[in-house]
Amino acid sequence: MVGGGPAGIVLGLVLARAGVAVTVLEKHGDFLRDFRGDTVHPSTMTLIDELGLWDRFTQLPWKPIESVRVVLDAGPAQIGDLTLLGRVGVPHPFVAMVPQWHLLDMLAAAGEEEPTFTLVRHAEVTDLVRRGGRVTGVRWGEGNELAADLVVACDGRDSRVRERSGLPQRDFDVPMDVWWFRLPREEDDPAGGLGRLTDDGRMIIMIDRGDHYQVAYLIARGTDAEARRGPVQALRDELRRAAPWLGDRVDALTTWDDVKLLRVTLNRLRRWAAPGLLCLGDAAHAMSPVGGVGINLAVQDAVAAARLLAPVLATGDPDPAAVDAAARRVQRRRSVPTVATQTAQRIAHRVVVRNVLRGGGLGVGRLPLPVRLLQKVPALQIVPAYLVGIGVLPERAPAWARRGQDASAKNSSALPSGSVKDSAQP
Ligand SMILES: Cc1cc2nc3c(=O)[nH]c(=O)nc-3n(C[C@H](O)[C@H](O)[C@H](O)COP(=O)(O)OP(=O)(O)OC[C@H]3O[C@@H](n4cnc5c(N)ncnc54)[C@H](O)[C@@H]3O)c2cc1C
Repeated sequence: MVGGGPAGIVLGLVLARAGVAVTVLEKHGDFLRDFRGDTVHPSTMTLIDELGLWDRFTQLPWKPIESVRVVLDAGPAQIGDLTLLGRVGVPHPFVAMVPQWHLLDMLAAAGEEEPTFTLVRHAEVTDLVRRGGRVTGVRWGEGNELAADLVVACDGRDSRVRERSGLPQRDFDVPMDVWWFRLPREEDDPAGGLGRLTDDGRMIIMIDRGDHYQVAYLIARGTDAEARRGPVQALRDELRRAAPWLGDRVDALTTWDDVKLLRVTLNRLRRWAAPGLLCLGDAAHAMSPVGGVGINLAVQDAVAAARLLAPVLATGDPDPAAVDAAARRVQRRRSVPTVATQTAQRIAHRVVVRNVLRGGGLGVGRLPLPVRLLQKVPALQIVPAYLVGIGVLPERAPAWARRGQDASAKNSSALPSGSVKDSAQP
């Protein structure tokens, strides 16, 4: 695996539980980078539970988000109630806000308990090694090479491996970039996830992180540089106008250095696999921040890939044609949720984000019809909650990767007899 983000670490962990020898090469020395995605959705928590890691997860400093509200000029409204998912058997019906480095530390530690899992830090992959038209390994660091039956690109949305592979890609226009920053939060401030959309062109998402809000402030694409030529006071004023209750807390933004720019990208590979190579997570499909689904799709990709690849790789001396066929099956399995999610994000860009940022508003005197419907029939709030929290084609952990659970659970596939871990199945 090239890259130790959610996709690379989870794939490494699950494959290692099948006895497959895996090496994760991560360019950084730790997972400590500010402003990584932090939303862990119910679908991912179910997998964490199935992998027997729930107790460890509960030790992490996370905060549950149970509802999502928007405040339009026409008034406030709740648009998603995640607790309703409990009624349809979802075991963890909330979004957990977890600093991503804690999550990755926990998953990497679980991986390192497996004898066939190796994580190499400070290991930047610079190129692919090819032989006879097939990817046979990677070059990393200062002149090192690592041979592999399969190289899996999990190196994120600026993937070097994807770029070196020449796999064809499709890019989509996006109307916005995002400023990320923190503002202090007080005990009696609104809890959960809060969106503030104004008729004069502001779109602000505030996520309750206990003592602070993590704020995503949407700006029209390409306007960051010009805004930064002016004083940061302009941003403070706009925040105060859009959310007067914030008061002096906007003064926490003292310079533009407190405001990070996230360039939003939305793309996907037309082919995720080439002989000896597979791309997963953001390396295969960079997601818009809409819905906060990026980590969760990356984890789902990884679990699906492990389930489909392990039976081939765990034989120890896999047939390259069988490896490539399994890699292509991963794309077939994960294309549907990827395309469905990106299509929903593109619709949200067009219908909501573009409109709001152009000053077209949404409310114009009254709440939009779908939002009114969600107020009138609150049980319907399970629909947006399900689409975001569970999504399309959620994956289940294979039986051989589970710990502390009924390993013969349905939806799980077994390794072929004779595979390395057969005798050690839980
Ligand atoms: C500012 C920001 C906020 C976000 N907020 C959310 C959110 O709230 N919720 C959500 O679900 N998603 C969010 N996302 C998206 C989410 O972080 C990604 O979709 C998710 O992390 C993808 O996981 P991944 O494993 O595919 O890639 P990444 O998490 O990007 O991991 C890639 C890893 O590969 C390593 N790497 C890169 N190049 C190399 C190389 N050449 N050699 C070795 N290692 C390499 C990187 O250091 C990194 O550790 C956000 C993204 C950003 C940028």
